[in-house]
Amino acid sequence: MIIVMSPGATQEDLAKVTRKLERVGLKAHLSTGEERTIVGVIGDKKTIANLEMNMMSGVEKTVRITEKYKLVSREFHPEDSVIDVAGVPVGGKRLVVMAGPCSVESIEQLREAARAVKDGGAQFLRGGAFKPRTSPYDFQGLAEDGLKMLRQVADEFGLKVVTEIVDKDDIDLVGEYADLYQVGARNMQNFQLLKALGKVKKPVMLKRGLSATISEWLNAAEYIAAGGNEQIIFCERGIRTYETFTRNTLDLSAVAAVKELSHLPVIVDPSHGTGRWQMVQPMARGAVAVGADGLIIEVHPHPEIALSDGDQSLKPGKFNAVMQELREIAAVMGRTI
Ligand code: PEP
Ligand code: MN
Repeated sequence: MIIVMSPGATQEDLAKVTRKLERVGLKAHLSTGEERTIVGVIGDKKTIANLEMNMMSGVEKTVRITEKYKLVSREFHPEDSVIDVAGVPVGGKRLVVMAGPCSVESIEQLREAARAVKDGGAQFLRGGAFKPRTSPYDFQGLAEDGLKMLRQVADEFGLKVVTEIVDKDDIDLVGEYADLYQVGARNMQNFQLLKALGKVKKPVMLKRGLSATISEWLNAAEYIAAGGNEQIIFCERGIRTYETFTRNTLDLSAVAAVKELSHLPVIVDPSHGTGRWQMVQPMARGAVAVGADGLIIEVHPHPEIALSDGDQSLKPGKFNAVMQELREIAAVMGRTI
């Protein structure tokens, strides 16, 4: 349930509402907008069902929420949230771009990639140190050595670090080097990991599961938020369909859907979303036009010898050209890059 306070409600009205909720063991989650405050009610379903708040002073109306996710919903928080990632706002007027290789392979590879990422005007260096590969015989990542390289090279170029976490036991380790935790598609419903990330103070980028519905995706985010960490960024990265020409089917309509249902930022990954470098630029165009808050793009100095995802990685020159064009599209959308 949400309680919409009237514009003229006083602090005392609000305090009374909160006290009443707390008395019956419910939690109040306040969202203070410019005009009015919205109180999200969290707790036991039956207690909420029996709650009568409409008669209280300062209460304009109460709205029953049918969806299970609450903290991440726009009903709870009507205004867009801007997530601060180590000083970079995500979800504001300026689009955020994260780019870099699929896997961290060596310091030289990472430096070449980071140079391209920086020259193109992106703010984040991406790179996997723990790789969730389909085959156990494929390159699994450099683990902590890879994390160290990421931090070192990102600092050399003035970039932030986003990298994947695959195991809740690695939260402290990854957090030492990363500015933003990435939860990969394969772990979108790893509830132990999500709960553990709910306890950290760093933002989390939650990629959409391989065949997750939008509701499942939002509920996965709710696990993180319910633990106390509401700094969440969604990332649409394509879903499994019957199509085989592309690696995944990039669901750009999900951006519009999540924007409608949630206040949190959404970015798009056209690299994993298509699996083909030729399609990264057209889909990136679409992502900006549909209202995404940013992009995550795989860039490799030598895609032909990449240890993972070479087929979908852009070379530095191409990445630069994509960024230049995106700037123009962003301007049409009233945004900057
Ligand atoms: C990645 O970003 O390198 C990755 C493995 O992505 P996803 O989890 O979307 O497959
Ligand atoms: Mn990849």
